[in-house]
Amino acid sequence: MSDCTFSPSLCHIDLGAIRRNFGRMGEAHALMPVIKSDAYGHGLVPVARVLSDAGARRFAVGTVSEAMALRDAGLRQTIVPLLGALTDVDWQGAVMQGLTPVVGNFDQLERAAAHCHAGRTLRVAIKCETGMGRLGFSQKELPQVIDRLRSIQGIEPAMVISHFSCADMPEQEAYTQEQVRRFTAMSDALREVFPEIERSLCNTAGTIGRPEAHFEVCRPGISLYGGNPFTGTTWEDKGAKLGLEWAMSVSAPVIEVRQLAEGQSVSYGRLFTAQKPSVVAVVAIGYATAFNRALSTRTAMLVNGRRVPQVGRVCMGMIMADVTNIPQVRVGDTAWLVGGPADPGQTPVTPQDMADALGTISYEVLCLFGGMNPRVYG
Ligand SMILES: *Cc1c(COP(=O)(O)O)cnc(C)c1O
Repeated sequence: MSDCTFSPSLCHIDLGAIRRNFGRMGEAHALMPVIKSDAYGHGLVPVARVLSDAGARRFAVGTVSEAMALRDAGLRQTIVPLLGALTDVDWQGAVMQGLTPVVGNFDQLERAAAHCHAGRTLRVAIKCETGMGRLGFSQKELPQVIDRLRSIQGIEPAMVISHFSCADMPEQEAYTQEQVRRFTAMSDALREVFPEIERSLCNTAGTIGRPEAHFEVCRPGISLYGGNPFTGTTWEDKGAKLGLEWAMSVSAPVIEVRQLAEGQSVSYGRLFTAQKPSVVAVVAIGYATAFNRALSTRTAMLVNGRRVPQVGRVCMGMIMADVTNIPQVRVGDTAWLVGGPADPGQTPVTPQDMADALGTISYEVLCLFGGMNPRVYG
């Protein structure tokens, strides 16, 4: 999608930052980087390539289609589509391409069985429900799962996985510990029969906050892109001290610089009226390319290294900034809506800042900017 927009705004992806963040999360052999949803908007294949160069042995993607795109790009690692195979075509693709789809209910297990071919091993990741309340086998179902796995020719349970619902919330620590306990019990039962099976429970928050629950494989996602899941909590420093770097910046050109007389207003709804003679820059990004309209008057940007407030209502393809206090802004200058070069004493807007202003999480900000803007890599 992001290759065919006509937008003048751009997403800049720093692959070096992603590589360094990967190194900050642990040893490459003990990680399965999560690159679902087009690598959280950063671009599936470029991100997979840089992580492959950094030693990644496995990838977690969302769909079988994403996994196929990685195989098409020549990546030979273990690939786990977290949503599982959804159609017969998916199952055939999973077998042909040697994927490791997630299996978390008996219907999926029977489909897996039906697609096992003589002489070809289908590896699967068994998903256990430990408290997320979404996908996976329950503890009660596990004996039957194990019996069935033993009876299917050509299936190999390569991994057992589960997912935390609130490992990022210090006040929910007891619940997280209970999830660890359940996962330990369920994975132990599987390991008795399949001793080679690899266990994986931790997302970023678990990887940072629960070293006792790392098992063989951790699955960091947001940290690879620079996000600290503990931001705003009492555990913020646990993530902050890793020195994660944001990998995405967003820029757009200044397309007009307008002098306003006192009393003149700007944009739809007249949210901004100049209190004195002012200068407003019009910047070519808007809600059509993920600059959320709810950010109107609630964010800032860097123009020529200086932080300036966004003013007036966000339009479909334009936003405005009050640049009265910075001299000589010209048409063609670059405004940085996220990240970008800052003068000493000036701070860029982070994806977290933008998420806070919107009442959401950085994951959503990254996915939407990355999905709706042309990406450039550096
Ligand atoms: C998205 C996801 C992750 C990564 O979570 P982060 O919070 O981004 O680290 C790990 N495991 C599963 C199953 C996921 O869906």
